[in-house]
Amino acid sequence: MKRRVLISGASVSGPALAYWLHRSGCAVTVVEKAGALRDGGYPIDVRGTATEVVRRMGILPQLRSAHIDLRRCTFLDADGGMVASVSPRAVAGGVEGQDLEVRRGDLARALHALVRDDVEFLFNDSINTLDQAGEGVDVTFHSGRRRTFDLVVGADGMHSRTRELLFGPEGQFHRHLGHCFAIFTMPNTLGLSREVMLWNAPGKAAALYAAGDGDELHAFLTFHRPEPPLDVLRNPVAQRELVARVFADAGWEVPGMVDAMRDADDLFFDTAGQIRMPHWSSGRFALVGDAAYAPSFLTGQGSSLALVGAYMLANALARHRDHTAAFAAYEGGVREFVALNQALVEDGAATLFPTTARALEQRNAMLRDLVTMPSPTARPAHSALALPEFASMP
Ligand SMILES: Cc1cc2nc3c(=O)[nH]c(=O)nc-3n(C[C@H](O)[C@H](O)[C@H](O)COP(=O)(O)OP(=O)(O)OC[C@H]3O[C@@H](n4cnc5c(N)ncnc54)[C@H](O)[C@@H]3O)c2cc1C
Repeated sequence: MKRRVLISGASVSGPALAYWLHRSGCAVTVVEKAGALRDGGYPIDVRGTATEVVRRMGILPQLRSAHIDLRRCTFLDADGGMVASVSPRAVAGGVEGQDLEVRRGDLARALHALVRDDVEFLFNDSINTLDQAGEGVDVTFHSGRRRTFDLVVGADGMHSRTRELLFGPEGQFHRHLGHCFAIFTMPNTLGLSREVMLWNAPGKAAALYAAGDGDELHAFLTFHRPEPPLDVLRNPVAQRELVARVFADAGWEVPGMVDAMRDADDLFFDTAGQIRMPHWSSGRFALVGDAAYAPSFLTGQGSSLALVGAYMLANALARHRDHTAAFAAYEGGVREFVALNQALVEDGAATLFPTTARALEQRNAMLRDLVTMPSPTARPAHSALALPEFASMP
């Protein structure tokens, strides 16, 4: 009988896992709490080993056409004066002509299109309870559906409900990185085109990101907070007030950004953090992508880890009929890659969001040097995992 697998979450890791599981002969169901595929969103990167995953899925040409190909990244000081204008690759360590930057929605759509005819999608629903006392996992859904699966995988992101059901509260796995961020879209009144402008003051940063030549920008407001502001995390009104307070005396275009944030209907506020867990599986359950090992946007590696993790998990399940052996092989194969990429966070935070005047000065000096030096090559962590051939079912 076909292995029946339920995946919770239809963003990046969920559909990627569905694709590879279907290819190895599983019957796959994906449950997503949103009413439809979530479109739009900020640009994300696909680099190194993950590029090989999307090539093997056949969507590399499509993603190449969706590549944003940013022209420049301009850093500004507290008064809005230019510090340096550099190639985005010089900052993130990407490889020209190989690494991809695409809108999150474009990647999610490409992945979904690959599997939508072969995999069952249950939108507007989510897992309510899980019980693995019997031969399989008995699942009840919020809609009232009841089904039984052989395996259940949580691909439901950083604040995974599946992880909470199986392993307990997020707090024990969440590593706060000392920054909070607000992200929203706003009108492109500056006429920016395929570029990023990043304004810094010690402990505060504001970025405007033009993914194309269109009339909308992605706006980021980020600030240092050693302790996570737990009191505002579920309160959008308090989030807006906190951000407005932090940026009250900021220069450049920041006052306009704060006004736009107040009107934005897509404000996303969160703390920058990582998920670090001693194990990613338990019994017939496993986690993949941000749910298991979110590296934070400071590394720019979340989507790449999600794609590589999905491939490695499906490959392990294709090689091992026994799921316990498969989950052990998955963890063994991916853990070091995850650790190397999570470690990139120190570089990311130091480059993008220096917290003291001295650190900001040092960062600016480094940027001025970058303008005159050849671009650094790719980060070894991005390609640190050599992808095995995909197995057929034993
Ligand atoms: C502001 C920001 C900027 C980022 N920038 C980058 C970048 O530059 N480069 C990069 O590589 N990555 C970046 N990332 C990270 C990247 O988006 C994630 O790492 C990546 O999308 C992980 O994919 P995922 O599928 O595991 O999780 P997610 O993309 O978080 O998807 C989880 C899915 O599960 C669904 N879901 C949630 N709860 C439930 C539930 N209870 N039941 C059913 N479904 C549920 C959600 O609706 C969602 O569709 C950024 C993230 C943020 C927030």
